[in-house]
Amino acid sequence: MDFSLSVEEREIRDWVRTFVRKELVPLEQEVLRRERAHQPGLTSDELSELRQKAKKSGFWGVQTPPEYGGMGLSAVMTALLEAELGRTFVPFSFGGSADNILFHANDEQKERYLLPTIEGTRKSCFAITEPGAGSDAKAIRTTARRDGSDWVINGEKTFITGGNEADFVMVFAVTDPDKGANGGVTCFLVDRDMGWRSEYIDTMGEWGPASLIFDDVRVPSSQILGEVGQGFALAMQWIGRGRYLLPARAIGSCERLLSMAIDHANTRETFGAPIAERQAIQWMIADSGVEIEALRWLVLHAAWQVDSGMDSRHAQSIAKLYGGQKANEIVDRVLQIHGGMGYTRELPIERWYRELRLLRIYEGTDEIQRRTIARNLLKGHVTVGGALG
Ligand SMILES: Cc1cc2nc3c(=O)[nH]c(=O)nc-3n(C[C@H](O)[C@H](O)[C@H](O)COP(=O)(O)OP(=O)(O)OC[C@H]3O[C@@H](n4cnc5c(N)ncnc54)[C@H](O)[C@@H]3O)c2cc1C
Repeated sequence: MDFSLSVEEREIRDWVRTFVRKELVPLEQEVLRRERAHQPGLTSDELSELRQKAKKSGFWGVQTPPEYGGMGLSAVMTALLEAELGRTFVPFSFGGSADNILFHANDEQKERYLLPTIEGTRKSCFAITEPGAGSDAKAIRTTARRDGSDWVINGEKTFITGGNEADFVMVFAVTDPDKGANGGVTCFLVDRDMGWRSEYIDTMGEWGPASLIFDDVRVPSSQILGEVGQGFALAMQWIGRGRYLLPARAIGSCERLLSMAIDHANTRETFGAPIAERQAIQWMIADSGVEIEALRWLVLHAAWQVDSGMDSRHAQSIAKLYGGQKANEIVDRVLQIHGGMGYTRELPIERWYRELRLLRIYEGTDEIQRRTIARNLLKGHVTVGGALG
């Protein structure tokens, strides 16, 4: 069992670490200032300039297959990169990526949707959640009715990330109510100018998702992604594409937060001594250090299972559940260690506090991860001994 990084893995990881330190961290104060004025932290020009800078060093399409111009990196490597990016709250991700299910597009759709998304000239969004169907995604009610060679879509989607900015949506609609999720849901690629509209949803985070309204939106059959009736499987593939990546990013955030707590504990004096000398503070630091370490290995283990072609769903649920829970406990402790300053908007702790809260909700809530984990254990789909048996 070898837990070390190869020379190449270390080089790639270190390049990103340097990029974050030199290019992103210096932007933090300005990002905070803008977000507090209700503006985007980075303008789209700034984001694309940063992406082009990274591209010059080959960082483009981290998980995009090389035949589409990407790096095709492993899941383990991608998790390590996400952890590095998580060290800052500057909203950056590398360019050159597209939703995994767009690779199922036919040649004509690839030209119109997949390739421009990879290039960054078109923005996508993924829409399954509805006001009446979140965790229970099979309960969606948006319909697509066949009319000649067209389909007419009606319904409302909600909480759609990027829904207010997207040029097109991958929307999931019921095409056969008798079959429902078992062969009666279809995915449609629908351009904004085909008639759907979006409404921004204000959240406790710095960026908001949107509701999408489909009111008799007519699309030709050529807009179907994959096959009629196979949409639910595509939706599950999208959601399962990398559940380990969300807690991976949280590793970096927690490391940065813990470093802030350590610095503060060592310098803040009360009753004639640094608070670092108090056991109450030491235990918070110790617990956070242990939990970050445990999270790192849960995430890397899930990513390793992905790379090994194993069924990684159980390991990914464990990493997502633990990451969401512990990241929230850690940011809360770090805020506590900073006292009143932790609660102010002069420091970014309260920002991370709000951002990390989302981790327990989207792409499967804590309760849904527990449901999956419990079901796997109770039904014997996995052993209590884990992957080693
Ligand atoms: C910022 C943000 C971005 C999002 N982005 C997208 C996106 O891009 N595309 C998209 O389609 N969706 C997106 N979502 C939706 C997200 O996936 C759902 O909010 C999430 O799955 C939970 O669904 P819900 O909000 O309807 O809660 P509900 O399903 O109504 O759940 C309410 C509560 O009940 C619990 N619960 C539900 N069922 C059970 C059960 N069987 N046992 C025990 N407890 C249960 C839940 O865990 C939760 O605590 C986003 C959400 C947010 C907040």
